[in-house]
Amino acid sequence: MTTEFHSFSSQHESVKPLLGVPALVVSGFLGAGKTTLVKHLIVDAQQQGLKLAVVSNEFGELGIDRALLQEAGGPGYVELEGGCVCCQLTNELLETLQNLWETIRPDRVVVETSGVALPFETLMTFWREPLTEWVGESLAVVVANAEQVAEGRDLEGTFEQQVSSADIVVVNKIDLVAEDSLGGVERLLLDMAPDAPFIRSIQGKIDTSVVFPPALSPSNSSKRKSKPEILPHTHEAFEAQELSFPDNITPEDLIQQLQPLKTLRIKGIINTSVGPKLVQGVGPRIDLSAPPANLPQEIIGRLVAIRRK
Ligand SMILES: [Zn+2]
Repeated sequence: MTTEFHSFSSQHESVKPLLGVPALVVSGFLGAGKTTLVKHLIVDAQQQGLKLAVVSNEFGELGIDRALLQEAGGPGYVELEGGCVCCQLTNELLETLQNLWETIRPDRVVVETSGVALPFETLMTFWREPLTEWVGESLAVVVANAEQVAEGRDLEGTFEQQVSSADIVVVNKIDLVAEDSLGGVERLLLDMAPDAPFIRSIQGKIDTSVVFPPALSPSNSSKRKSKPEILPHTHEAFEAQELSFPDNITPEDLIQQLQPLKTLRIKGIINTSVGPKLVQGVGPRIDLSAPPANLPQEIIGRLVAIRRK
């Protein structure tokens, strides 16, 4: 294992985000475009002034890609080598992530797996102590190469296992398939991952608000606008919308009202009839759980929903 920390100086200690640090596991078969997607996430974080930590376990992406990623990633970029993070290196991954937390206090965390790793098994590391103390929602993002699917190559085994455990599927390289075969590509993927939202992309340029919904904070409570974003239109368009719900709504009613909205992501705190709940949704799956302690009153009762425009 090589653990590479670049030197850095940080005078300010940023505090833990209210709902924890969001974490992504980016997986996908060989050639899916994981590294390109991760690069896009790095650039996006830089543009937003957020600190992104990246742990990469991708082998075989040597050379210029790796150098570029290292340069763009800066102090928060660590490579793990000598095995797979989903099985052999789970303890190393845990230690590396905890180290990153203690040294750079990232706002977001991304783990890029190798093409053979299983995303769910990798995700499980985020559910272990002491990571649970600071990690918020953790999701498996699986990048699928539309061209590979259209050609019917290597769709069994690892590929299927990866896609079937995706929380979000990025259908990448859509520019390499004929428009009329994209439907078939997505139907095939949908069979493997019926509940996961799909986002289409070219060169991994996704709207990052789908994987990292904008945080609710007391300071943006008065701004009810979708995130302004000027990006080349190589990806689908999404909008962030704020929803409010009355206090004492029952959890059942809340879920019943949320599900038909067909959102890709939902996140926020609602004061339900059984107390405040952290509401997190990915596609049709909506989870209610105990919220973090000491939340400011202003953010209770509000949800951010990400939807297709
Ligand atoms: Zn593994």
